[in-house]
Amino acid sequence: MKILLISPRTPHTFWSFSHVMPFIAKKAAFPPLGLVTVAAMLPREWSLRLVDLNVESLSDSQIAWADYVFLTGMIIHEESVRNVVRRCKLKGKPVIGGGPLFTTGHERFSEVDHFVLGEAECLVDELVADLAKGTLKPQYFSAEKPDLTTTPVPRWDLLDMKQYARMSVQFSRGCPFNCDFCDIIVMYGRVPRSKPPAQLIDELEALKAAGWDGSVFIVDDNFIGNRVRAKELLRALIEWRARRRVKWTFLTEASLNLVDDPELLNLMVRAGFTSVFVGIESPEEDSLAECSKTQNRRRDLVEAVRTIQKAGLEVMGGFIVGFDNDKPGIFEQQLKFIREAGVVTAMVGLLTALPETRLFKRLKSEGRILAHSTGNNLDAVLNYVPTMNRQMLIDGYRRLVQQLYSPQEYYDRILVFLRNYKPSKPAVRLRWQEIRAFVRSMWVMGLVQRGRRQYWKFMVRALVAHPRAFSLAAQLAITGYHFRRIAGDL
Ligand code: SF4
Repeated sequence: MKILLISPRTPHTFWSFSHVMPFIAKKAAFPPLGLVTVAAMLPREWSLRLVDLNVESLSDSQIAWADYVFLTGMIIHEESVRNVVRRCKLKGKPVIGGGPLFTTGHERFSEVDHFVLGEAECLVDELVADLAKGTLKPQYFSAEKPDLTTTPVPRWDLLDMKQYARMSVQFSRGCPFNCDFCDIIVMYGRVPRSKPPAQLIDELEALKAAGWDGSVFIVDDNFIGNRVRAKELLRALIEWRARRRVKWTFLTEASLNLVDDPELLNLMVRAGFTSVFVGIESPEEDSLAECSKTQNRRRDLVEAVRTIQKAGLEVMGGFIVGFDNDKPGIFEQQLKFIREAGVVTAMVGLLTALPETRLFKRLKSEGRILAHSTGNNLDAVLNYVPTMNRQMLIDGYRRLVQQLYSPQEYYDRILVFLRNYKPSKPAVRLRWQEIRAFVRSMWVMGLVQRGRRQYWKFMVRALVAHPRAFSLAAQLAITGYHFRRIAGDL
């Protein structure tokens, strides 16, 4: 059996980091983890090829080679997915679609021949048996939340790892919270499930054996959804890094209640975590109440961010505007908060109603849904009727993002962050990749692009005031270039 696995192209978003890639001579920020994991569930004797459209283009001969095409995607990938499906249909190749895009909206893809809806661990055995017999059903569905001990080590051999800035692994799925806009809990449930630490260490060993030596994104919905299990993993990671003399760093996503557990914070830093993405959403208490972001309510959010920074982690923050309780002053409130807290990587999006979420259901019952979400919270397009004047919301959002990523504002924010940040060692390992990125950034940001004067002034101030964190400052300056380009496109 010949299977072609295709990962669709990700458009420019905050998370694509696409404008950073040329600085570090990489093509994509993260690998298609779901696809290489599904690949590992298929019989070893089958021939597999993987095409990630973020690092290479898809040729007609690759499509012609396959007996079946496995296509995955998130909502944000819809355009690329439709394009791939069209090309496969022209070649008469059957497409099997799986992943979040299809799980929450397969009925909009009548051209796809077969669907795998739900978590792959529950469905792939049946799919494989039917593929072998030639009796494929139109749909394979399971609402079951599988035990992750059955998840195999991903097929890293199918990827050209050199093309990626980071590798990804997954420790847990699901999140105990209940934010109304979130589709994670719709798909993966509110009871966190995790792998035993030894299983994740085996995956890291496999990455190491495949030649990886760098940074790893632990792609969990909420890494601390089960704090006891997270601590067990962290202790195992600390031991593994010391025993194997590994200096890899980790990035993950976690809820803000991380700040309530100093032991957890300390273990994360000792295990090599350098950054954590936290959904802060809004400094407006009524908006937090509206979306049920209970874990962020009734606390000093600026102080919470500073506590995490002081422990030695950069806080990458997610923010939303467009809640019913947001008043016209929300844009200024968000800007002030992000400035004060020194959230350098502030990913601000317009609220979007994702399919099957509580938010979607509420807005639908109120007759306020206008269109399907594109899944791109950077789109200055609303798929619902807001309470604030629509144009005022879109204009305010654009202004906020553009202001946040204007050179002076951004560099000032890095300096605020560096004043709070207390790394126990030099913040970034300086390797050839970082040096090359730094030299290129001096050329692009220091000599060619707008904001040259601010760039040099910032570099000098960072070097004088924060020499131990200078390489991190330079890295953040490069990341800011990506965000500035993204903001410019709004
Ligand atoms: S904390 Fe994050 S993952 Fe959990 S429900 Fe809220 S938005 Fe979703």
